[in-house]
Amino acid sequence: MTTLSGKTALVTGSTSGIGLGIAQVLARAGANLILNGFGDASPVIAELKQLGVKVGHHPADVSDPAQIAEMFAYAEREFGGVDILVNNAGIQHVATVEEFPVERWDAIIAINLSAVFHSTRLGLPGMRAKGWGRIVNVASVHGQVGSVGKAAYVAAKHGVIGLTKVVGLETAASNVTCNAICPGWVLTPLVQKQIDDRAASGIDPQQARHDLLAEKQPSLEFVTPAQLGELVLFLCSDAAAQVRGAAWNIDGGWLAQ
Ligand code: NAD
Repeated sequence: MTTLSGKTALVTGSTSGIGLGIAQVLARAGANLILNGFGDASPVIAELKQLGVKVGHHPADVSDPAQIAEMFAYAEREFGGVDILVNNAGIQHVATVEEFPVERWDAIIAINLSAVFHSTRLGLPGMRAKGWGRIVNVASVHGQVGSVGKAAYVAAKHGVIGLTKVVGLETAASNVTCNAICPGWVLTPLVQKQIDDRAASGIDPQQARHDLLAEKQPSLEFVTPAQLGELVLFLCSDAAAQVRGAAWNIDGGWLAQ
């Protein structure tokens, strides 16, 4: 069993959805946790503390590089640095290219792509100094294929996979690895909003949910945050020491088509 006892994991966007699922698995494996994200983090902090690990929360808005730097300074001060960095925070907006609000484009690129660059450049020196580290970027199937209406998201996630390859190469001769995971549909608030938008046009919510899956995901089942957490845990293990610069699909068969 992989133990992360004594390691500190920083998971961006971990107050809900996938980030929370990843944080729960890493904490169960013994890692101390720095949570990040909007909303009231106190119930999650209380839950994870029951596992006997140290838990903190930093409210950085990762669209702002200065706030990301403050989060890493907090990590250094309170936890002695970051051993495992999971770049997970992300947002979505659906509109055609011609109608895409410029402000939404800028926000998606800042949060889903540029924040991964800033966290990586700030986190990597400490990992190199300690001689061990893991960076896992939560990309998406949309890092490898497109879908209509998702110009900014698809562009950002393709960028994340490119960045992952470069960091994987630049760390290849060290005990630091950098990989991406590529989930298909996961039922989180980010996806529930897309189901609600379909249902708003008069379709039964159950039908809207089925249609969303049937269009892309052959298993017709959602991937779960817990499954994603277990994949991140594997990438943190010694068995994964030579997985480098990969983009690992976990998508109910979406990309096999
Ligand atoms: P979610 O909306 O449930 O959670 C997003 C998290 O990010 C929240 O904790 C939120 O507070 C935080 N966040 C948003 N903007 C932030 C900002 N500016 N600064 C700091 N934190 C911020 O979404 P989710 O579905 O769990 O998505 C998590 C990641 O997984 C995203 O990168 C998303 O692109 C990716 N992903 C999701 C799916 C899916 O089907 N849900 C599929 C593939 C990839």
